[in-house]
Amino acid sequence: MKMESVLDAKTKQKGTCPFCKENVAAILVEDNTVRRDKCRCPQCHEFVFLCRSPGCQDYAKGTQVYDHELCPSCTETATDGLKVIGKTVLTFAGTVISGLILAAAKKK
Ligand SMILES: [Zn+2]
Ligand SMILES: [Zn+2]
Repeated sequence: MKMESVLDAKTKQKGTCPFCKENVAAILVEDNTVRRDKCRCPQCHEFVFLCRSPGCQDYAKGTQVYDHELCPSCTETATDGLKVIGKTVLTFAGTVISGLILAAAKKK
């Protein structure tokens, strides 16, 4: 099977491409049961993988060195989640409580 046979290629569900930000139905490049199915964006032709986050329909970036587990928005949620919670707590409870939280964090 040649790479050019895109017309009858299998496609995945629609999701946001991490490269071009378009809502695309990625083309299945390689069925991979051990790892994840390798797909390619029909718009920008970059390699993408389905996001591992449950219920997420978007795509994660596939690169030469590392295939991302999560799409950009899920990655952001995962890494910024704690920071956001921290900020919310600080804003909500004010400086007195934040002092207590800092003290509690130091005890850990
Ligand atoms: Zn794309
Ligand atoms: Zn995601």
